[in-house]
Amino acid sequence: MPSGIYSDPNLGECKLCKKKLRPLNKNSDFSNRQFHISCWRTLVSDLKNYNKRAYTKFSHKRIIAGEIEDELRSKLENGQSITISFN
Ligand SMILES: [Zn+2]
Repeated sequence: MPSGIYSDPNLGECKLCKKKLRPLNKNSDFSNRQFHISCWRTLVSDLKNYNKRAYTKFSHKRIIAGEIEDELRSKLENGQSITISFN
């Protein structure tokens, strides 16, 4: 969680959550900081685990043989045939 109170009007707002930045009390701050520390850690964690979170948090769809996985599965469940070609 961010520390300090919203006293510095020069800090602006966080680029991730759009809330006002607070001054850092425990560590020295730097002038061009654009994220809360916790928001930055979330961002780094999302990037680090993007292979999993792309599908859970960012609603990307898995593509199998040029088709979206869910559509492919529903085709199979409806008894339709699918063709997968390997180049
Ligand atoms: Zn933030």
